[in-house]
Amino acid sequence: MQKTFVLIVGGGPAGSTVARYLSKKGIENILVQKNCEYRKPCGGGIRYTAFKEFSLEENIVEKKVKNIIIGFKKKRIHINIEKTPIYIVDRRKFDKYLRKKAKEEGTHILEGNFVDFYFEKDFIISKIKTKEREIYIKSKYLVAADGVNSLIRKKLFKEYIPRIPVNYIDISEIQIEDCHFYFGNKIAYKYYAWVFPHFEGGNIGTYKGRLENFLKFLNLKSYTKPKGFFIPLWKDNISLFKDRIFFVGDSAGQVLPFTFEGIYYAMASGKILAESFLKENPSLEYKKKWEERFLKQFKSLKILQEIFLKNDLTIYFMIKLFENKYIQKEMIKLWLGERDIKINLGFFLRAFKRAFLK
Ligand SMILES: Cc1cc2nc3c(=O)[nH]c(=O)nc-3n(C[C@H](O)[C@H](O)[C@H](O)COP(=O)(O)OP(=O)(O)OC[C@H]3O[C@@H](n4cnc5c(N)ncnc54)[C@H](O)[C@@H]3O)c2cc1C
Repeated sequence: MQKTFVLIVGGGPAGSTVARYLSKKGIENILVQKNCEYRKPCGGGIRYTAFKEFSLEENIVEKKVKNIIIGFKKKRIHINIEKTPIYIVDRRKFDKYLRKKAKEEGTHILEGNFVDFYFEKDFIISKIKTKEREIYIKSKYLVAADGVNSLIRKKLFKEYIPRIPVNYIDISEIQIEDCHFYFGNKIAYKYYAWVFPHFEGGNIGTYKGRLENFLKFLNLKSYTKPKGFFIPLWKDNISLFKDRIFFVGDSAGQVLPFTFEGIYYAMASGKILAESFLKENPSLEYKKKWEERFLKQFKSLKILQEIFLKNDLTIYFMIKLFENKYIQKEMIKLWLGERDIKINLGFFLRAFKRAFLK
């Protein structure tokens, strides 16, 4: 039986980042990834700051988005984000690249399907099926970076993470340079519908069952059969660990409310988790460090999401606010975590004053 200190299941942004930073610190680990050619269903949009923060080369970027368009009914707001661009990556290439980074630091990558685990004294025994055989790996810790449909979470807690079903299509015929976000019950329910430039053409998606309305709204016809997937819906007090098993990225619901940005938070949370293994009590350290860094921002955006995306009337008010340049700048800061705001009555009075009493 193979042995390791930490076994990581899932080689997406979360798992590869945990592996990479564990190896950097000299902590022995193995990363199991089901299929190394897998392309995660994803818009592939990442905040530019992630590249510096995680020392990633920009030649992996397919497109740099300098404008976003926010739409509701016939209204369009163009926001220049040249100074804070969104980088678009091809998830197959990007995830492979992140795994390569982990490998270069010393992680052993195993292509195989993690199918089960059990506890044996102070260890966890994991069963992995590769193309050739079945393997058992004995580890002190197990990291579940196995995404929104986490098998480990399902086995341990008997449920999946709270999540939103989405439908999406890739259309190679459209060529766009900007990221579009559209709101409204008919096309996006209480979330948003998106059109993102992709590695080839555009990626279009929205809440499950609203895609046909959205395509009509865009004056497009469906060229291919829509695909479906889930995006985690973050909630405070989702369990980050249990019995020496840690959850990170989508398996822990670490997707920023309102923007539904998950790649950056999967990586940032992965790094926090890896660094927690240097401490005496990794579980408490991980939770503490994650909350210190992200809890306020996640809570603030969750409140804004619940207030503004309630119905078409609240969306109308939100769009009025977004017309204001000052509010655009503040929202970008909040999104990038550069600004803490207290969401209280004062916040709304100031925002409404700026938007409506010019
Ligand atoms: C349609 C859509 C569009 C999105 N667009 C964006 C976007 O533009 N920007 C953004 O920031 N976020 C976006 N997200 C969210 C983002 O994709 C996720 O938050 C992010 O991929 C989470 O990373 P992760 O490593 O936690 O999980 P994942 O990327 O899902 O990685 C999990 C990995 O684990 C592997 N795995 C699963 N089970 C097993 C097993 N049993 N054994 C071995 N391996 C296993 C999988 O193959 C996968 O590679 C989008 C999500 C969806 C569904």
